Amino acid sequence: MSAGQPTSADASKRVLLIEAGRRDDYHWIHIPVGYLNCIGNPRTDWLDSTEPRLGSMGVHCAIRAAKTLGGSSSINGMICMRGQARDYDQWASLTGDEAWTWKIRCPISSCTKTTTKVPERRTARAVWHLS
Ligand SMILES: Cc1cc2nc3c(=O)[nH]c(=O)nc-3n(C[C@H](O)[C@H](O)[C@H](O)COP(=O)(O)OP(=O)(O)OC[C@H]3O[C@@H](n4cnc5c(N)ncnc54)[C@H](O)[C@@H]3O)c2cc1C
Repeated sequence: MSAGQPTSADASKRVLLIEAGRRDDYHWIHIPVGYLNCIGNPRTDWLDSTEPRLGSMGVHCAIRAAKTLGGSSSINGMICMRGQARDYDQWASLTGDEAWTWKIRCPISSCTKTTTKVPERRTARAVWHLS
């Protein structure tokens, strides 16, 4: 979820987003698998990395984050995974806000799915339809 998303549906709220980077008119941004050409590319990636640490065996680890309007939503892989019920329920418990419970979130967020028929030897896969 991008920064502006939670409040953008409410017309009474105004959201200021500050983003560094060029316009998102780079062709690889608009081709689904093009994110592979956006990561590690100074046109669209900040090219940040961690400091070497003992836990990473002394090597730098790349941190992928987009440098373009639209942020990482512009270069992400468009993979959507449903969250876990117990995480939502824990957030509801921590915040004291019933709206975070799985019971309420599930119908309005990412629980829409269609199961397609697959060859016998394979287990059923869910196809996610998002709008
Ligand atoms: C390569 C890649 C693949 C991904 N694939 C998936 C996926 O398949 N599915 C999924 O759910 N998530 C994916 N993600 C994660 C997802 O895209 C991010 O979690 C989400 O976009 C983060 O949104 P955000 O608004 O918090 O931050 P961002 O979208 O990263 O926005 C931050 C904005 O701030 C700007 N900025 C940073 N520093 C400064 C500064 N100093 N001054 C001004 N502006 C600054 C950046 O340029 C950027 O525009 C992927 C991320 C990457 C990088």
